[in-house]
Amino acid sequence: MNENDELKGKNTLVTGGSRGIGRQVALALARQGVNVALNYNRTESEAKSIQSEVEKCGVRCIAVQADVSKGPEVERMIATVERELGTVQILINNAGISKLQPLDEILENDWDEIIDTNLKSAFLVSQAVLSQMRSNHWGRIIMMSSVAAQTGGVIGPHYAASKAGMIGLTHSYAALLAKEGITVNAVAPALIATEMMAQNKKARPDLIPIGRFGTIEEVADVVIMLVRNGYITGQTVNVNGGWYMS
Ligand code: NAP
Repeated sequence: MNENDELKGKNTLVTGGSRGIGRQVALALARQGVNVALNYNRTESEAKSIQSEVEKCGVRCIAVQADVSKGPEVERMIATVERELGTVQILINNAGISKLQPLDEILENDWDEIIDTNLKSAFLVSQAVLSQMRSNHWGRIIMMSSVAAQTGGVIGPHYAASKAGMIGLTHSYAALLAKEGITVNAVAPALIATEMMAQNKKARPDLIPIGRFGTIEEVADVVIMLVRNGYITGQTVNVNGGWYMS
């Protein structure tokens, strides 16, 4: 088999695949011959438009609505994906939200919403696909963390904690699954030009040593590298223009 074909025919689930980083990761995986399940919550028309772009790559694609912060919706989503596409071999835990609010206005319900959407979702979706990955002795899980986990970032403590939690989740899963052909890694981007960042006036290019925002393509490149590589696990790969150096 040509080494460029190693992912061909595998199935991926990209949470939050309708816009921004998730959209580009879905397309990049499709270009490797991977069939794609695109999850979205509210933006059906964007999901349908990326679905047709993905299909032009010659792979199968389904768009599945689900709020991934809710256990029953995750169960329904995974049942749909398994019925219509097959088992998930590559999971991209990308869905996320930010909430821009002054520090003293962040309340318990804001904390819960951010932690449930950004962190609990990654646990729920990973748990739901793990038994099939373990039976197949192969799997890839990528957590879309953030520089906020490392520096605090430009959103707030609830967001930073949710993204730091994803790194803890990565370490635990990576250690527990290392002998089973399943790698688990985090990607920590900073200031990538998407709608999420466009809303945030504190996100300025002069914060970034390289002096510009990153692109969704630059994040997707790293995801593809991690999906292809079987010897990198438990790592956080920074795509941040030099903002945080590890
Ligand atoms: P974005 O453009 O706002 O896209 C967010 C995606 O997540 C959308 O597809 C959205 O779907 C989906 N989503 C949100 N809540 C959901 C839910 N409850 N269930 C299912 N899907 C949900 O954001 P982005 O900038 O591409 O960010 C993608 C990920 O990268 C996020 O986890 C973010 O925290 C992380 N990140 C981004 C940056 C950056 O600079 N942009 C930096 C570091 C980390 P709907 O539109 O249908 O709701």
